[in-house]
Amino acid sequence: MKSALASLLLTMTGMSTATAAVSPVPPPSAPAGPTTLLISHLLDGTGKEARDVTVVLQHGRIERVEAGIHTPATGAVIDLRGLTVMPGFIDTHVHLDSHWDAQGRIATETESVADAATGIANAAWASLMGGFTTVQSVGDPTERPLRDAIRDRGFPGPRVLTSLGWIEGDANTPDETLRSVVRQRKTEGADLVKIFASSSQRVGALPTFTEHQLKVLCDEAAAQGLRSMVHAYRSQVAAAARAGCREIEHATYASAQDIHVAAEAGAYLSPQVGLVVQNYIANQNRYIGVGNYTPEGMQTMLRDLHFDVEVCRMMMAEPHAKIVFSTDATAGAHGRNAEEFFGRVKECGQSPMQALVSAHTLAAEAIGLGDRIGRIAPGYEADLIALEGDPLQDLEAVRHVAFVMRSGVTYKWAGTAQR
Ligand SMILES: [Zn+2]
Repeated sequence: MKSALASLLLTMTGMSTATAAVSPVPPPSAPAGPTTLLISHLLDGTGKEARDVTVVLQHGRIERVEAGIHTPATGAVIDLRGLTVMPGFIDTHVHLDSHWDAQGRIATETESVADAATGIANAAWASLMGGFTTVQSVGDPTERPLRDAIRDRGFPGPRVLTSLGWIEGDANTPDETLRSVVRQRKTEGADLVKIFASSSQRVGALPTFTEHQLKVLCDEAAAQGLRSMVHAYRSQVAAAARAGCREIEHATYASAQDIHVAAEAGAYLSPQVGLVVQNYIANQNRYIGVGNYTPEGMQTMLRDLHFDVEVCRMMMAEPHAKIVFSTDATAGAHGRNAEEFFGRVKECGQSPMQALVSAHTLAAEAIGLGDRIGRIAPGYEADLIALEGDPLQDLEAVRHVAFVMRSGVTYKWAGTAQR
């Protein structure tokens, strides 16, 4: 099933060797000459704000950022004055393969490969249109052909990083088995490994691996040049941090001491308070009946949402906590990733600027791309978005994405002031 889907996606995106005799249409690429952006309000991704700025792009990257508005004599100009311009958002935790089937229910493996491939492609497009120019999808094997098609063939979507799958097991799984699974992911082309240190919240949120096993997994990942992400609840949050794992998801039911240990260990902390549970509840009839999606599981998530808010606030109380932007978006949530900003600001207590930076420089650093994306500065990728309104004054602006550019290619722009 999975390999059939992968090969279908390869074919859809022109990567099949069977199409080699046909001249391919060149993928969309950044304009050959310079592109100049005229900006009246800029957030640079690091927490700095500027008024009246000219940004010059070349070959899909930011060449220079100049104070003042300078309309060039030649080259393309995009006038973004009146909007708030910032780096494209980065979501460090999504599930692009999760989508509705033809009946409007959560798709399962019985779906046709064509519908499954279309579903993941639509999720990627929706994410991009929502202002997310990079997402880390964790994980399904179909994310690899999607990632490669977007990166190498101009297939429309955000930059994708993938874990390809999850690593699950129990306290009896031998160390050598754990190491070999990590090495296998490396061979298959993963960007990171996603480890389940706790069972789903819908089935008890109980520990699976021991701290020793987490250390084996995260050490092997580091040795292979892969980042590690751990799904953890309760005291598994501190265990994963002590084990040297890099990013810790959810952290529901963790104590203030667990959060303290994780923050001091320097782990990226990834709570979700604004979208994932709300989306499950709003769409529960589309999910219930598949896998561990039961009425009881849905009720548990709704009843315990306040614990997610509590751990997020505990993180805010830690001076060294690196609270990274993530949504855990599944079917129904793709393209609405920015809803998480409302939870971060209104429930968790981040300032709008802190929340935005968590989706810019902090998220870029968390996924190992801190020197390439997440900032508007010379040398960085031309991943830029523009919002109607000022999110620092009214967060509602994050729902109104007027302009999306990734690597110098404009994917969304209703404005007319362009030549
Ligand atoms: Zn997830």
